[in-house]
Amino acid sequence: MTKKRVVIVGGVAGGATCAARLRRLDEDAEIVILDRGYYVSFANCGLPYFVGNVIQQESKLLLASKELFRERFNIEVRIRNEVIAIDRHSNHVVVREVDSEREYREPYDALVLSPGASPIRPPLPGIDLPGIFTLRDLPDSEDIREWIESRNAHRAVIVGGGFIGLEMAENLVHRGLEVTIVEMADQLMPPLDAEMADFVRRRVAAHTAHLQLGDGVAGFEQAGDGSLVVRTGRGASFGADLVILAIGVRPESKLAREAGLEIGERGGIRVDPQMRTSDPRIWAVGDAVEVKNRVIDQWELVPLAGPANRQGRIAADVICGRESSFKGVQATAVCGFFGLTVALTGATDKALRQAGIGDFESVYLHPGHHAGYYPGAKPIHLKLVFRRSDGLVLGAQAVGEDGVARRIDVISTAIQMGTTVFDLEEAELCYAPQYGSAKDPVNLAGMIAANVVRGDADLAPWGELHTAGAFLLDVREVEELRGGYIDGAVNIPLRQLRARMNELPRDREIWVNCRVGHRAYYACRILSQHGFRVCNLSGGYRTYRAWYPEDRVDHGAT
Ligand code: FAD
Repeated sequence: MTKKRVVIVGGVAGGATCAARLRRLDEDAEIVILDRGYYVSFANCGLPYFVGNVIQQESKLLLASKELFRERFNIEVRIRNEVIAIDRHSNHVVVREVDSEREYREPYDALVLSPGASPIRPPLPGIDLPGIFTLRDLPDSEDIREWIESRNAHRAVIVGGGFIGLEMAENLVHRGLEVTIVEMADQLMPPLDAEMADFVRRRVAAHTAHLQLGDGVAGFEQAGDGSLVVRTGRGASFGADLVILAIGVRPESKLAREAGLEIGERGGIRVDPQMRTSDPRIWAVGDAVEVKNRVIDQWELVPLAGPANRQGRIAADVICGRESSFKGVQATAVCGFFGLTVALTGATDKALRQAGIGDFESVYLHPGHHAGYYPGAKPIHLKLVFRRSDGLVLGAQAVGEDGVARRIDVISTAIQMGTTVFDLEEAELCYAPQYGSAKDPVNLAGMIAANVVRGDADLAPWGELHTAGAFLLDVREVEELRGGYIDGAVNIPLRQLRARMNELPRDREIWVNCRVGHRAYYACRILSQHGFRVCNLSGGYRTYRAWYPEDRVDHGAT
């Protein structure tokens, strides 16, 4: 039997995983990894922390060397070898040695593409000025470190307030730099729903010099002293010693496109659940491919390490004749900065609306990450999205200082298993006072949502608070109002409600709020059983402040 020859383009998350799995399944296969960079199998996710000096040794980011691949796996790794074309008729790739520019052809029986995604660098005036960086690989992070140190940089502008932008912000602040963030969207962390992103905005604003939201960069100039000036579309300008562009990535699908492989409408390589491209001998995995969102059933680009690794493994299985298939993504992600953790899974409100899906509802809660009586409980701001008609769990977003990732991971698993809010009510999660509560935030989210699906509590839409003409009722204690209240709301503390029902209208809907939604729910139950039409403003005043922030002012320009 002839040996199978598998060529892999790109030797980091998807490619390296695929190669190692192939070897575990087929001791005889010839496996070659071609990567145009200096390293394979490095931890790109750790790069911001290397720039920030949190990780001080570059070697810590090198997970497996070329030598290790050879010695442990009998896999040949050729770095600085770029694949420049695929000859599908003869099953060869055309390779160029980056340093010598020599070209050669490499045959394959199976070809795996894992070329990743490249940072977007828009063609703005001044974009090529020295000091404007993107961050994708180790040489990029070395360049940024070197620039900061050699120029004694102390002001940075980060363009883009998503995952990488915020991680970079934290790391540059950690290094003592003054950081400005410019973000074109009206919110940080664009994948989150806007009100959930407000918890992020408040924290980031407290740690950065300037936060310029809803404004895009128009161009860059060099100042007389060699530093940079970042000009925005709204006419602001910010001085900087360095600029980090973190405005997203684009799938590296050029090679596949030029080879005539099918490309999806979002520009990624189209693959089937076995990670096979439109050519049965070619597989593609990782950031370069489009993936099906399993919640909203749409093709998406989800450039995350978890899916890349899982897909690499699946491609290897299939190449070796095993039955294996990728089930799609929920874009489960987590990010931490300035002591805050932000995590999400599944569909957001806005993603569902954009997909034209209307059968859903969202609830908010702000429980402590562990029992309130044990010292140090920190709130988790949690939003659960579910199908209105049957309670199927669709998504969740959470922001807080502790215990956030754990809750989102539980809900992510629930979504994968197709469970409902009734299952979340019943979920049996570990509990001791320093870790959680007997009713964990996940249980609470399930209970609140289940009340809605059962028809025990109707929800008022926060977005229509000031336009719906509803009677607004606040059932907190009078002294709590000192910390703020919803304009126009009438205060009747919960304990007085039964005695003061005559103050409430019977011809209007009553929308009830309290601090976090708990007492408002009691009030709703009382009032609905007395024939009033009531709805709960989910999550109470804490959610109100996220929807209608009082301090939401953009910083001016320097
Ligand atoms: P990559 O890991 O990018 O590897 C692609 C490789 O292919 C590269 O080495 C490239 O040089 C090589 N290549 C490309 N074209 C060719 C060619 N024609 N010939 C030869 N070689 C080629 N994800 C998370 O889930 N969590 C995180 O916290 C996180 N943090 C991140 C932080 C940063 C700064 C970055 C850049 C990414 C982060 N990611 C994170 C994303 C994650 O790293 C990627 O999703 C993952 O690495 C994708 O794997 P991949 O194999 O598709 O591509």
